[in-house]
Amino acid sequence: MIMDDCIFCKIANGQIGSETVYEDERFRAILDLSPAVKGHVLILPKEHFDDLFEADDETLGEALKLAKKLGAAVKKALDCDGINIVQNNGEAAGQTVHHLHFHIIPRYNGGEKIVTWPQLKSDPKEQAVIAARIIENI
Ligand code: AMP
Ligand code: ZN
Repeated sequence: MIMDDCIFCKIANGQIGSETVYEDERFRAILDLSPAVKGHVLILPKEHFDDLFEADDETLGEALKLAKKLGAAVKKALDCDGINIVQNNGEAAGQTVHHLHFHIIPRYNGGEKIVTWPQLKSDPKEQAVIAARIIENI
């Protein structure tokens, strides 16, 4: 399904122009308009899914394979030392465009690491409770 009011539906399906680096029947990959760093690529499925949890497994499998392929190309093209594959779900997680997408972000030794978080101390008893709760919900 394609949504009328979704900018990534329009970009992915060619109704709005973009700096496209890859296209096939299912996906378009573009340069991010406000990149974290030069060579920041976004993979967009042509079909609309709000996020990871709405998408079918086949699309997700193909998207990850494409992230590998394009990540390798970005690494060669930008001569970077590492690549972040980032995928945000929900506003609380930083998602601003509610059409599933995967970020491919070049990284350099000694440079900024985009994906960082505080390393809290964990309590073994609490960890066991949390693990049990997750296991129950799989
Ligand atoms: P997220 O925060 O994961 O939802 O990422 C949305 C990304 O889309 C951001 O990195 C934006 O810079 C990028 N973005 C928003 N609008 C456009 C657009 N019209 N063309 C290309 N990239 C865009
Ligand atoms: Zn969409």
